[in-house]
Amino acid sequence: HDEALQCIGCGAVLQDIDEKKSGFAPAKTLEKAANEEAVYCKRCFRLRHYNEVQDVELTDADFLNMLHELSHKDALIVNMVDIFDFNGSIISGIQRFAGSNPLVIVGNKVDLLPKSLKQSKMKQWITEQAHLVGLRPKSVYLISALDKEAVSNLMTELEKERKGKDIYIVGTTNVGKSTLVNQIISIATDEENVVTTSYFPGTTLGKIEIPLDDKRVLVDTPGVIQPAQLSYYLSPEDIKKVTPKKEIKPKTYQLNEQQTLFLGGLARFDYLAGSGNQSFVSYVSNDIYIHRTKTDKADELYANQKGELLSPPSHSSDLQELRRVEFSTSGPADIVFSGLGWISVDEANTKIAAWAPKGVDVLMRKRLI
Ligand code: GDP
Repeated sequence: HDEALQCIGCGAVLQDIDEKKSGFAPAKTLEKAANEEAVYCKRCFRLRHYNEVQDVELTDADFLNMLHELSHKDALIVNMVDIFDFNGSIISGIQRFAGSNPLVIVGNKVDLLPKSLKQSKMKQWITEQAHLVGLRPKSVYLISALDKEAVSNLMTELEKERKGKDIYIVGTTNVGKSTLVNQIISIATDEENVVTTSYFPGTTLGKIEIPLDDKRVLVDTPGVIQPAQLSYYLSPEDIKKVTPKKEIKPKTYQLNEQQTLFLGGLARFDYLAGSGNQSFVSYVSNDIYIHRTKTDKADELYANQKGELLSPPSHSSDLQELRRVEFSTSGPADIVFSGLGWISVDEANTKIAAWAPKGVDVLMRKRLI
């Protein structure tokens, strides 16, 4: 028969093609479902048996449908972002979908930034950046989802913020949402507080519900992939090198005009013109080799050394050509390579050419650090 088979836990349409997409179940499970047995998708199965959530990705259309559902809720909306990839993970449309619901931003992976950076300053920066894309968060929190105590403190704060409402946690993939939700499950549940799954009416999307009190729940929603993220274009091996695992060590470079920095073979930063010798600071994974050269030698070096000296990528064939964008600063700024990190510039009227693989966002923003 041609009726779509659904997970009885979350309502997602079952499929055995892509483990990262909603409704995935092994082929054998699908056969059972076809024989009219009640079955769970893998995500709901793991949740029921191991009390543990798994990542799933949605299509853009499904993600929009889900956000649209939020506007009909009476809830506290929590947008989780990765502060190391802030511009790649902030959901600029979320304010519209939140409707009259209060919005809170949680900046995750605070452990990656230099410990010397003041949290109050970082919160202020996040608030300003959120305002620039039209978000009006009631509050901003910084956490590391890996830190159980930090998650516990966050829950205490959200408990005050929610004023008796449900909590919806929304984020793009890779911001650390599953890590957070798994911590919350382990903190908040006992035998009586059973974690359940259900679906958004009008869509076929899995959501996970963690009880907060007798009536209210915390809802974990599936994420969506951001195609502007660098990881989208890299091999799993290179993603590991590019993704920082511990506190980033900033590296300072004194450059003259017409000098270039290569961030492995993934990005390139040309200091074109400015006030002569200046210092620039890189904030990228410690595993990325940074190479300095003269700008007029850079094209040739890249052609000969991509995937060799200039690595990652580990294989020169793995990456598309670099695309060039010019910037001129009007004050202290970061030149951001989405998903890779950034290079900070001190002075106004500094001309930079920034290069990244086609499809990867390159942008200038107010300096974070
Ligand atoms: P999701 O796609 O949003 O559910 O993200 P995951 O929970 O799967 O996390 C994505 C990656 O970020 C994983 O490699 C996590 O280990 C890592 N991660 C999550 N939270 C943190 C954090 O607070 N600090 C650091 N350094 N890494 C984190």
